[in-house]
Amino acid sequence: MKQSVIEEIFAMDVFNDAAMKEHLPKPVYKKLKETIEKDVELDPEIASAVAHAMKEWALERGATHYTHWFQPMTGITAEKHDSFIAPTGDGGVIMEFSGKELVKGEPDASSFPSGGLRATFEARGYTAWDCTSPAFLKEDAAGVTLCIPTAFCAYTGEALDKKTPLLRSMEAVSDQAVRILKLFGHDEVDTVSCSVGAEQEYFLVDREKYLKREDLIFTGRTLFGAMPPKGQELDDHYFGSIKERVASFMKELNEECWKLGILAKTQHNEVAPAQHELAPIFSTANIATDHNQLIMELMKKVAKRHGLECLLHEKPFDGVNGSGKHDNWSLVTDTGKNLLDPGKTPHENVQFLLFLAAVIQAVDENAPLLRMSASNPGNDHRLGANEAPPAIISIYLGEQLEDVISQLVETGEAKSSKQGGRLKTGVHTLPDLNKDATDRNRTSPFAFTGNKFEFRMVASSMSVAGPNTVLNTIVAEVLSNMADELEKADDFDIAVHDLIKKTLSEHQRIIFNGNGYSDAWIEEAERRGLPNIRTMVDAIPSLTDEKTIAIFEKHHVLSKAELQSRAEIHYEAYAKAINIEAKTMIDMVSKQYIPAVISFITKVATSINQVKMACAEADTSVQEELLKKCSNLLTDAKKELEELKINTNKAGEKTNGKEQAEFFKDVVVPIMEQLRAAIDYLEMLVGKEEWPVPTYADLLFEV
Ligand code: ADP
Ligand code: MG
Repeated sequence: MKQSVIEEIFAMDVFNDAAMKEHLPKPVYKKLKETIEKDVELDPEIASAVAHAMKEWALERGATHYTHWFQPMTGITAEKHDSFIAPTGDGGVIMEFSGKELVKGEPDASSFPSGGLRATFEARGYTAWDCTSPAFLKEDAAGVTLCIPTAFCAYTGEALDKKTPLLRSMEAVSDQAVRILKLFGHDEVDTVSCSVGAEQEYFLVDREKYLKREDLIFTGRTLFGAMPPKGQELDDHYFGSIKERVASFMKELNEECWKLGILAKTQHNEVAPAQHELAPIFSTANIATDHNQLIMELMKKVAKRHGLECLLHEKPFDGVNGSGKHDNWSLVTDTGKNLLDPGKTPHENVQFLLFLAAVIQAVDENAPLLRMSASNPGNDHRLGANEAPPAIISIYLGEQLEDVISQLVETGEAKSSKQGGRLKTGVHTLPDLNKDATDRNRTSPFAFTGNKFEFRMVASSMSVAGPNTVLNTIVAEVLSNMADELEKADDFDIAVHDLIKKTLSEHQRIIFNGNGYSDAWIEEAERRGLPNIRTMVDAIPSLTDEKTIAIFEKHHVLSKAELQSRAEIHYEAYAKAINIEAKTMIDMVSKQYIPAVISFITKVATSINQVKMACAEADTSVQEELLKKCSNLLTDAKKELEELKINTNKAGEKTNGKEQAEFFKDVVVPIMEQLRAAIDYLEMLVGKEEWPVPTYADLLFEV
């Protein structure tokens, strides 16, 4: 049978299982597989053999360099390339790549944010091979490079990246889930892996127009821009037919993804004009994280080839839908069973209900931390705005499941026992969820969607490592406490029933199936005592509160020092982002908008004079009113501009990270909004020809 194009190119640039099988001696392959599957340490001899095979494989494909590819706290990926060359002594070179070079790197990389960790401990930073994520090839103008996915740590082992805690959290949740499964008699399960499918939303705009907007170039979003006459109100873009230029972009993006073994599956137009989405098929959390980073990188790269620019920012345009990343999450055993699948047999359902209850409790107890894990400066503009979940964490379960839960909570054993006899945990009332799983509820930040949870609050441009690290860790904590309790129980069946009932009753407040976009929900959530943390800065303290530290230290995911360093990094990242935005605004207003408005009003003034000169009785009231309005707004803009300059400088003088971030949020951001309001108003008055930058209409409707 003829192979399809996809089968031919799929994973051709990845040193995956098939490639390893082909290129490694059998015993080496077996040992490596063991390391990957059983989480044991890698033997140095095996590392040498793997390095050799990997190098040969890469050289055959034209590689000249290798790099340890890592994910520092900037949220994007980093790489430093080394060529394979080694001198032979007779003036020539051979291609070398040792086991040591594969396993460990010392990129120095001291300029990446460490939140003080490297100053207090040791300046060195190391990268360590994550052999559970396959090496791959990247091709660009510099040639072909062998990329080795790695974790990035300080000399003393503190995590300096997003990957290390993710890997640790995956182990934690696996250990605790296995404990629970043993209680259910599943001795055959050795490990549980966390599976993730990250749906990526993005915007595409014309690159030439993009290059005319400093705000897009420097900050990834428009800092100014009045709404065009048409926005997204017609919903004619959502799932609409895909335009030629975008289609050819998508075709190439898919091919690039497939070559890297990324399971690019679904593509469609999103709600906002110029907005699209790509969803891959889910995979293990760390691989899904790597792949999502690569997807974002490829989107940017491929867009340029098509004369487009890809915007990954959470809110590139005010007033239209923002971009998120829907993080689909579930737990799967090494025997292939999805623990969040409601299943069909009562026994399986009890187990499902326990895991479901654990997730509900974990989310309710750690809502601020979960909210933090989805935060970045851009997402502050998205959460609670058009077509985006609010900043309040709640869980959507769908009617059927909610009904089961309220029956369990309200009536317990006796009442649900409709057919008489003893009822185990009321599962007889659990309807077959597979049929009509759940209704779609797009307004929930955390929705159960049939056999997984979909965390929709996540910011589009951020790494999914953070959200999944938090999810794994908080669920591990609840499972661990549940296992402690159940392991002690005399009658497991009764104990598990009571535990499910107790957990669901205590945490029912987090379940909300209504419209999360409505104002009524905000009030209702307040009544229920659910936190509504509106900004990233307000969410950061959850990283270092006592409960978080206790949980993260208990499961060896992050130490207190690591958590504190992360909080510092977030404050700093926020301050930096707003500082850049403020400075960009200052620049654009001073050099583009004010001169443009002056030139426009001068034109209007000249016209008034000329009309008057030509005909003294002519009515120039329209021009005069325009002149007055524009001049007044110009005065407003200038006043806000000066305020912004003064306060951005003031913010810059603050030395405490938290205080600085708070000053930016409370003082600088509101001035930015005022300044924007004046300029946006002017945009609606000033003639199109005079306006110095492409408008929302140009950017959103002309791809
Ligand atoms: P929906 O359209 O309801 O969001 P899809 O079936 O299209 O659901 O899946 C959306 C994303 O969720 C995809 O990336 C998919 O691979 C992923 N996904 C599906 N099942 C799981 C699972 N068990 N664990 C994690 N992700 C999953
Ligand atoms: Mg979805």
